[in-house]
Amino acid sequence: MDDSETGTAVWVFWTEDEAPTSFAVFPDCPVTSDGDEGCCHYLAHPGGHSWELTDPEHDLWQAIAPTLHFLTYGDYGPFKP
Ligand SMILES: [Zn+2]
Repeated sequence: MDDSETGTAVWVFWTEDEAPTSFAVFPDCPVTSDGDEGCCHYLAHPGGHSWELTDPEHDLWQAIAPTLHFLTYGDYGPFKP
């Protein structure tokens, strides 16, 4: 749900086959196309979109996964610390 007057949109979150669990209001992405159209999912521009979320816990696990794999399995496998 987009409100162009305030430059915001309501984003609803859910998991597959479940009812929506939460919502949040995020600012519209400030990047525009050559035709001055606002950014939507289809515009690939440097950096992330303003409405993208990050998961610090997921990022942490991704960063330490190679080390955990090495400590558990040694040098076997695709991960190299
Ligand atoms: Zn964008």
